[in-house]
Amino acid sequence: MLGNFSYCNPTKLYFGEDSLDNLNIELPKYGKNVILIYGGGSIKKNGIYDEVVEILKKNGKNVAEISGVMPNPTVDKLYEGIETARNHNADFLLAVGGGSVCDYAKAVSVSVNCKEDPWEKYYIRFEEPDCETLPVGCVLTMVGTGSEMNAGSVITNHKTKQKIGHVFADENIMPKFAVLNPKYTLTLPHYQMVSGIYDIFNHICEQYFSGEDDNTSDYISEGLMRSVIYSSRIANKDPQNYEARSNIMWTATWALNTLVSRGKSTDWMVHMLGQSVGAYTDATHGMTLAAVSLPYYRHILPYGLQKFKRFAVNVWDVDPSGKTDEQVAEEGLQAMENWMNELGLVMNISQLGATEDMIEGIADGTLIMPGGYKVLEHDEIVEILKESLR
Ligand code: NAP
Ligand code: FE
Repeated sequence: MLGNFSYCNPTKLYFGEDSLDNLNIELPKYGKNVILIYGGGSIKKNGIYDEVVEILKKNGKNVAEISGVMPNPTVDKLYEGIETARNHNADFLLAVGGGSVCDYAKAVSVSVNCKEDPWEKYYIRFEEPDCETLPVGCVLTMVGTGSEMNAGSVITNHKTKQKIGHVFADENIMPKFAVLNPKYTLTLPHYQMVSGIYDIFNHICEQYFSGEDDNTSDYISEGLMRSVIYSSRIANKDPQNYEARSNIMWTATWALNTLVSRGKSTDWMVHMLGQSVGAYTDATHGMTLAAVSLPYYRHILPYGLQKFKRFAVNVWDVDPSGKTDEQVAEEGLQAMENWMNELGLVMNISQLGATEDMIEGIADGTLIMPGGYKVLEHDEIVEILKESLR
């Protein structure tokens, strides 16, 4: 049964090869002082930076920059960005990059006028902003997180070894607009492309593997999963295939723009495990998820058997005739594992730099979410992480 919910997603999307032109429609809506936020320099190499700067100039904006936003943005980088935004009297934040840059821009947005330490307020106490926030726009260059159309923001604290995501309840924190040009993703290294693909797939899994009710969202999720599996196989062999890359980009947005979680429970334990691995290793987000997924799903399979069976049949086309439910469910996970290997995903946390002596710390840092088929005990988390080392 669908639970009670509200649904509002105010992010305006511009999709396609000419979508950047729409900055000319959006920028005039906001004040003169803009902060251009980007990462380590990929946008300078592939020319996106020059295109964006030209449009900003044409629109008469007074631009300051926050550059060097690292993958898995840190709290120290956030403090630095707050200073830049305050000194520049920022009216608008334009994020040009992947999920890290988008997440970071949202973090700056809620922190510029915040009187307390934003790390404590938003990422430890999960409070909502009670100060004025800055509008954010996004030009997406890396596909996977869905950050372009959600209110999520993940920040890493290396001192405390915590990587924590806050999904703000207020939809005003979502980007006001996002420019999605699949061509911009064609320069992504293979490692980042497949990592993003797995992030998409896992976002859908996190919302699918929960609940036993009949729920419209689960049917949408199965379609999204089939689409990303299909397109990923094409993109893996032919990364310049625009059709596949554009479908992957659009699926990523729908995978985590809040639609498929409406009215149902959700899991999110793979992300909690992956983020804690990330806090210790600073590894690429999608790879941390890939490395812990199968040990986690095999662990919870007996508790959510019917859903895993449905997943096998509806997503992986496993023929159930003459087989037990367990056999069908396991075949589904085997098909998923084969696909992950085909893409070249990292399948264990050792390869990401995690070692046996980190396991207790990673387990302690794993937030326990109650929505999955089994609420994990500490010992089970340790067991799953040990299994993920292999
Ligand atoms: P990312 O960290 O934003 O980017 C990864 C790498 O890709 C960077 O080194 C970047 O280089 C490079 N890159 C980006 N675009 C490129 C392009 N067009 N060509 C070549 N290289 C390019 O990756 P992400 O996976 O999108 O974001 C990961 C972060 O998002 C993590 O912190 C994760 O926890 C978080 N996350 C958020 C949500 C959410 O709902 N908000 C969901 C899942 C994960 P440059 O730095 O040089 O640009
Ligand atoms: Fe993710």
